[in-house]
Amino acid sequence: MSIHPSEPFRIKMVEPIQLIDPETREKALQRAGYNIFGLKSDEVYIDLLTDSGTGAMSQEQWSGIMLGDESYAGARSYQRLSDTMADIFGFKHFVPTHQGRAAENILCAVILKEGQYVPSNMHFDTTEGNIRARGGRPTNLICEEAFSDDPNIPFKGNMDLDKLENFIQEVGEENIPLGMITITNNAGGGQPVSLENLRGVSEIYKRHNIPFFIDACRYAENAYFIKTREPGYKDKSTLEIAREIFSLADGATMSAKKDAIVNIGGFLACNDPALFEKIKNELILREGFITYGGLAGRDLDAIAIGLREGLQEDYLAYRLGQTRYLTEELKRVGVPVIEPAGGHAVYINAGALLPHIPQSEFPGQSLTVEMYREGAIRGVELGSVAFAYPDPDTGEMVYPELDLVRLALPRRTYTQSHLDYVVKVLERIVKKADSLRGFRIIKEPPLMRHFSCIFEPL
Ligand SMILES: *Cc1c(COP(=O)(O)O)cnc(C)c1O
Repeated sequence: MSIHPSEPFRIKMVEPIQLIDPETREKALQRAGYNIFGLKSDEVYIDLLTDSGTGAMSQEQWSGIMLGDESYAGARSYQRLSDTMADIFGFKHFVPTHQGRAAENILCAVILKEGQYVPSNMHFDTTEGNIRARGGRPTNLICEEAFSDDPNIPFKGNMDLDKLENFIQEVGEENIPLGMITITNNAGGGQPVSLENLRGVSEIYKRHNIPFFIDACRYAENAYFIKTREPGYKDKSTLEIAREIFSLADGATMSAKKDAIVNIGGFLACNDPALFEKIKNELILREGFITYGGLAGRDLDAIAIGLREGLQEDYLAYRLGQTRYLTEELKRVGVPVIEPAGGHAVYINAGALLPHIPQSEFPGQSLTVEMYREGAIRGVELGSVAFAYPDPDTGEMVYPELDLVRLALPRRTYTQSHLDYVVKVLERIVKKADSLRGFRIIKEPPLMRHFSCIFEPL
């Protein structure tokens, strides 16, 4: 048995959840067209759909909310956030935004022209969408180890530096208005990037005069992985590691719904004053004045406090320990999982658990539905439903390498007994895995079909 870390907090406010009966769950599934995005939250017992904006705020954050200054311009809340930003990230300029994707939208609007390339280890889907929406070409240059099933690789989120150098030579630095990296790599299982790799990436971008932006959503989790896994960082604080990370970059985008542990918010930061002028203009057009950026003053206080709490090492040890606990326990009961455990989520290899269901019949969808049917648990399919697409030349479906189901852990929200419940439900599913059937899609939108398509069981 693996050990669940002790929570470095106790519970002072509770939100009731209930387990509805199996017949009501079956009706809910039918009503939703077997798409778990169509379920009401009251129909779900353990909700592991996402870790975005679903965490629990602390007493300090809630009291910060009461101190929020709602002045339109120059609010005290903005000043407090600004001080925290300077202390942790050290960029010369920043603006708050209402989410991560708003920061991405503004950055792409001011820096990117049609036909240009934006390399990264792996773009998250909103980043990719925002680049494409401006006619740009997002390019993923993740290291080969990312696809290995060796559980002992410490930094599977790293960029392949040779690929990056070759890519820049090939398309020309003049066609790359910015370069990025995502820490931790959300689309690649929440796997971290090492500081050594970040230094290499920074050096290459600098040499080619390409501005380097970090997608910083889970920078604190990444900093703690560096502290515990990278030689030379054991005695450094996560704050010192974060400062070192961002000293290598020219700017950052962030969804504060992740490592700032708030329910809404984000930011866009940079050093270049000319770029910042353009960002300010675009922000005022789209989001709001530069000292609030589409948020209430109180939200800025919650972010300022959350950014510091997100770096606390007892919290991070608990957070990453919880993810590791669920990964190891699932493995113990025979569930194939991606290893090593990442930061924010556990990834089940549904294709390996349900080898009798072909990719065209969506093994990840089958497992997602069964987790809800068996235990009112909501995870999300990240496989052939989310990622298969028809080849533009032949029309033939191109399927992803793996059919995964992600169980994302909201921050400071569920306890060990909740996770043990998840493990028990999956243990029951493993025993009857042979009897699970696939699905057919009977209605789908043209883009991002997994959010709204309708299924029929086979
Ligand atoms: C969540 C996320 C985003 C987008 O942020 P939103 O707040 O959901 O708009 C971008 N990049 C990564 C890595 C993320 O995890």
